Amino acid sequence: MKKWLLGAVAVVALGAGAGWAFREPLALMLYARGAEQALTSNNLDGLPDGLHAAFCGTGSPMPDPDRAGPCLAVIAGKRLLIVDAGEGAARNLQLMGLPPGRVERVLLTHFHSDHIDGLGALALQRWVGSSATAQLPLLGPVGVGQIAAGFNAVYQPDSTYRVAHHGEAVVPPSGFGLSPRAFAVPETTAVISDDGGLKVTAIRVDHRPVAPAVGYRFDYKGRCLTVSGDTVVSPVLMRAAEACDLLVHEALQPRLTRVLGEAAKKAGNAPLAKVMADIEDYHTTPEQAAEVAQKAGAKMLVLTHIVPPLRLAGLEGAFLGDARKRFDGEIRIAQDRDLVSLPATGGIETSRLGGTR
Ligand SMILES: [Zn+2]
Ligand SMILES: [Zn+2]
Repeated sequence: MKKWLLGAVAVVALGAGAGWAFREPLALMLYARGAEQALTSNNLDGLPDGLHAAFCGTGSPMPDPDRAGPCLAVIAGKRLLIVDAGEGAARNLQLMGLPPGRVERVLLTHFHSDHIDGLGALALQRWVGSSATAQLPLLGPVGVGQIAAGFNAVYQPDSTYRVAHHGEAVVPPSGFGLSPRAFAVPETTAVISDDGGLKVTAIRVDHRPVAPAVGYRFDYKGRCLTVSGDTVVSPVLMRAAEACDLLVHEALQPRLTRVLGEAAKKAGNAPLAKVMADIEDYHTTPEQAAEVAQKAGAKMLVLTHIVPPLRLAGLEGAFLGDARKRFDGEIRIAQDRDLVSLPATGGIETSRLGGTR
């Protein structure tokens, strides 16, 4: 029987509630096939040449079972760069068929805990996944050295277990951990790297009292995407994103966070009510992000770092407000594992990596 036909029969039999006697061997057969597929292919090498934004985390510190912490994979050709690594980032990358072992470097927008608390797992997965002989470069504004040193210290005992158990050939000790590369936050923008046809520009943004804070612009083969990081409406970012194909912008809807604040007050939880009020003043609303995208001349706006979690389908409209009226292009609310592609040949394509939700 042809392989695909066998698979199809197995799926139908399982789905139709085949007798218990058949379920186990069929499940094992599918499991073995899935394992083979996972180990012989990845989605990185299958993408067309160009720039791609893969959403490995679209959430925030607020609990959301459907969203990992902030993480954006930027793929330029076959190169894989990560912007921020919130909790669950490494797990999502694996689910998306983007091997952590292929991560070339990580760029941090700022040092809020939700943007860095997945760094330890990511560095570990990248080390073990590729038998890396050099540390994972961690780029960020001045202060990034402290972040790298902290994670390296915390994961040091674990690294010795790995080496003792798997051997230096599999996990070379020199590849363990993060290697910080700090840059000074520019007055407005500064090119921080330009190699292999990929130019990365750091952009000063305003997330006060959190400082330093930056966004990034990526240019590759005539295509461009800009990532806001966390910020209020930033004229610097708007200018830096000018004529960029894709704007990936954070978004918080105060209309919805105020509902949570009121609920906290009623429950007698004054500290939480205060936090809910405070977070309004250092983020951007979906409507404002739409205006930024319009003024920058973006072709598409993707909202991420979604606050609050949208646990009911009907809430998406309430989250967006009248954002769609303020931007001529398409607006999307990012979901974990979304992919937005900017092929070198032109156009914008959207798809999902690692299955649908
Ligand atoms: Zn932040
Ligand atoms: Zn954040």
